Amino acid sequence: MSLKALANCTYSEMESLVKELGQPVFRAKQIMEWVFQHYELNPDRMLNLPLKLREDLKSKLVCMSSEIKESSKGGDKTTKLLISLFDDEAVEMVIIPSRERITFCLSTQVGCPVGCRFCASGEGGLVRNLEAHEIIEQLYHGIAHSGKFPDNIVFMGIGEGLLNFDNLADALGKMTEADYIGMSPRRVTISSSGYVPGIYRLIELGKPFILAISLHAVDDETRAEIIPGKLRYPIAEILQACDDYEKEIGRMVTFEYTMLAGINDSAGAAEKLAAMARKHHAKVNLIPYNETSEEFKRPKEIDIFDFRDILEKAGVTVMLRLEKGSKVKAACGQLRAQHIKKLKND
Ligand code: SF4
Repeated sequence: MSLKALANCTYSEMESLVKELGQPVFRAKQIMEWVFQHYELNPDRMLNLPLKLREDLKSKLVCMSSEIKESSKGGDKTTKLLISLFDDEAVEMVIIPSRERITFCLSTQVGCPVGCRFCASGEGGLVRNLEAHEIIEQLYHGIAHSGKFPDNIVFMGIGEGLLNFDNLADALGKMTEADYIGMSPRRVTISSSGYVPGIYRLIELGKPFILAISLHAVDDETRAEIIPGKLRYPIAEILQACDDYEKEIGRMVTFEYTMLAGINDSAGAAEKLAAMARKHHAKVNLIPYNETSEEFKRPKEIDIFDFRDILEKAGVTVMLRLEKGSKVKAACGQLRAQHIKKLKND
């Protein structure tokens, strides 16, 4: 795609473009207000612009490169959108409403190179990185579909965002800088499987994003059973990076822990996790596995609650989302997997 994408234009790029099109500079501000304040990427609906300029914008820019291909609603009121991209690839975004808030979960890559064994997104490996505008467009699709601006954004969809750092950072800038969308970085969570060099690059951005680490195990041997391959860093290095994140950015880290029966759900594991969380000032998000493959089983409810109780008794802040968390995260990548299957059969 050689044309510039509207969702990722800077003010100076837009000013140059309107000058090139023979228009007064104030038009740039009008266009940018449509894009970043009204979340509108269709020039036909930018009604305060002259018709000629609207037509020119459509020929000079990629206005919207993706579209909602399918939506599926879960019993817990979450809505998953399958977003089809310009090259027929697809990603997913999820709209998660709760009583007072609405959260959007966004993807950063097509496929994922990390390949966690419980996750459908990692099954076929990485296809490609998402461009910054493709990340931003997911936010716009979510707003158009739900009619609401999110209270929180979590990067927990398809992909390891810190391995697509430049594009993620570019999109984060547009989402959180005051001149653009201006969402508070404190309401943006970046989830990572523990890609240590990426955590340090995130620290360099210097913004108070929430960092969520998908720990899933309390020792490297067990973790290797869940996350295979070269992209898995030793737990000690991840924890050091988490300490540095808290020191530099001033925010507590969250440990994401997908509970898998007989693998990481013992009382001993809970005690070790509690000690780790206390030492590194981390909150813990327990995600009981939602059975999507035959390889892993979801722990029994009693074991889930016992595990949670051990953490709580040790003074750790624990979030246990029996419904939404499990469905959204563990089933991540399934709509895309169906989409790929369908493309192959057509
Ligand atoms: S859980 Fe996240 S990091 Fe692991 S394979 Fe799935 S998308 Fe990638």
